[in-house]
Amino acid sequence: MEWTDICVNLTHDSFKRDLDAVVERAADAGVRWLLVTGSDEKESGRSIQLAESYPERMRATLGVHPHHASQWQDQTGYRFAEDASHPLVVAMGEMGLDYYRNHSTPAAQRHAFEAQLELAADLGKPVFLHEREASHDFGDILQRYRDRVPAAVVHCFTSDAHALDRYLEMDCHIGVTGWVCDERRGQELQALVPRIPEDRLMLETDAPYLLPRTLPKGLPHGRRNEPAFLPHIGEHVARLRDVSVDALARSTTANARAFYGLPE
Ligand SMILES: [Zn+2]
Repeated sequence: MEWTDICVNLTHDSFKRDLDAVVERAADAGVRWLLVTGSDEKESGRSIQLAESYPERMRATLGVHPHHASQWQDQTGYRFAEDASHPLVVAMGEMGLDYYRNHSTPAAQRHAFEAQLELAADLGKPVFLHEREASHDFGDILQRYRDRVPAAVVHCFTSDAHALDRYLEMDCHIGVTGWVCDERRGQELQALVPRIPEDRLMLETDAPYLLPRTLPKGLPHGRRNEPAFLPHIGEHVARLRDVSVDALARSTTANARAFYGLPE
């Protein structure tokens, strides 16, 4: 079985000490590809370096997360435009809107989001998108650019049926994390997961965040999530969709291959 984790924040400090072991465990668990997420200018540069160290296993994205939107400058765009020509850079993002935390003001978030969509459109790159508690503004902005970017994935989908329908109408892919394993706040997502078309669904851990709550307590690395846990999320999603685990691994990896242009 081959899985693809479309969101791993491997440049996070918590992976500094045992990165090789984390990558090894992911491989042992059947996680074939890791998409290393860029979340600000510095981390995006490090994502490329990481992918260069593991070119058979990793690809990188370049983006400024809505939490860091206030850091966006024209200069960031110039730097990304240059770095995006690197052969291991497969998408722009993460980018988007997060009105749940508002670490940057909504206005700054909208500005950075639009600037990055504009850049992705110019570069002809797929976009990796983050939306939390902001589906209305997010949908309106994305609508204006959707025809100009080749593909778009709304990662860590946690919104409602209305937003899901709107994103699917815009021909977006949908990323599902271990949020779906949460017995309380994951309920709405559990109900929506069967409605995502097979050719639009991809899986992700969002490691080191969002450790699936259905994993046993007392893991050796505490609350840190890692890509080796992706099959656990996959098993949960397969049950909800009433398909075999094997079929889900195959379809979600095929979707990721096509979306990001990953080699066999
Ligand atoms: Zn995110």
